[in-house]
Amino acid sequence: MKRKLGVYIHIPFCNGKCAYCDFTSGVYSDEIKQAYFKSLISEIMNFDFSEYVVDTVYFGGGTPSSVSASYITEIFYALKAQVELDINCEFSIECNPESVTEEKLYTYKKIGINRISLGLQTTNNEILKSIGRLHDLKDFISAIDLTNKYFDNVSADLMLGLPLQNASDVTNAIKLLAEKSVKHVSAYGLKVEEGTSLAKSGFTPDEDFTSYLYDLTVNELAKLGYTRYEVSNFAMPGYECKHNKRYWNRSEYVGFGVSAHSFVKYARIENTSDLSEYIKGKTVAQKYFILSNSPEAKVEMIMLALRTSDGLDLTEFYENFGIDLIKDKSSTISALSDFLIVDNTKLKLSNKGYYVMNEIILRLID
Ligand code: SF4
Repeated sequence: MKRKLGVYIHIPFCNGKCAYCDFTSGVYSDEIKQAYFKSLISEIMNFDFSEYVVDTVYFGGGTPSSVSASYITEIFYALKAQVELDINCEFSIECNPESVTEEKLYTYKKIGINRISLGLQTTNNEILKSIGRLHDLKDFISAIDLTNKYFDNVSADLMLGLPLQNASDVTNAIKLLAEKSVKHVSAYGLKVEEGTSLAKSGFTPDEDFTSYLYDLTVNELAKLGYTRYEVSNFAMPGYECKHNKRYWNRSEYVGFGVSAHSFVKYARIENTSDLSEYIKGKTVAQKYFILSNSPEAKVEMIMLALRTSDGLDLTEFYENFGIDLIKDKSSTISALSDFLIVDNTKLKLSNKGYYVMNEIILRLID
């Protein structure tokens, strides 16, 4: 019987560079784009999909909507020629408001894309400008209205802890998303990464205020019917992102493109982050194996599962590692009783636990 597989495709092109961004992404010429898509197709063609049925496909970036929809169509047909797609395949694409057009949305719909993820970040135009985003609120509203014409399953990204951001910026954004029937929200705390123009500006986020904004986000979204299913992800019932869930469940996925990561047949593979190397055909930068009962797999399972509202499956953990975690870590778990919940066969974070998630994970894997 064939196994389920997720496919991630990285499109490293954007129309500008945001002040906080350290992803492998940037503004490139049409020649580079053409060469990149050629290498991407050849990487897809060289992967052996014969053991798999693909049930999630995710175009991420960068900004996939910044390139002509003909590139996305080309990739889709290259993939379709190689794989067996599950009939209910979740097929997502990340878009930024300024590059969404009706023509692109129509093409996405035609090739089978059924989930759109829009980068809003905030509804405050002054902040959007200060962090180098290319859209303003008006662009987002046009993009979401157009997207809603073609798609039911729409997600939006928000950022917390941005320069100048206050509580009403966050509540206004959430209110707008609910009014526009957005089904899924990702809310990430701003991290100032070394080398970005935000880091060079000397800005440091106020961690306590960011925690307060996170708390506000959780509560406001809950009032509107969005459930937190992972620390930064919230959805209306039935609209959780299946593709992202496989990262936390440690299910198999293959990533194509520069900087893409894969987890297939117990191997974690990292592609090169050097665009010119990738275009020359050198894809893999690193590959290492994580056997299913190894100490690394144990750490990964705790770290990833505790991020989710489903929590860590203690039976599965025992089957994999022969460890009864509740007994093995009994003193740690009782010392952390305010932050952890033992729910039948699951170990989960309590609401308080999400605020100190990293500390709790460290104590459990110690
Ligand atoms: S649009 Fe996204 S990937 Fe592109 S520069 Fe901005 S944050 Fe980075």
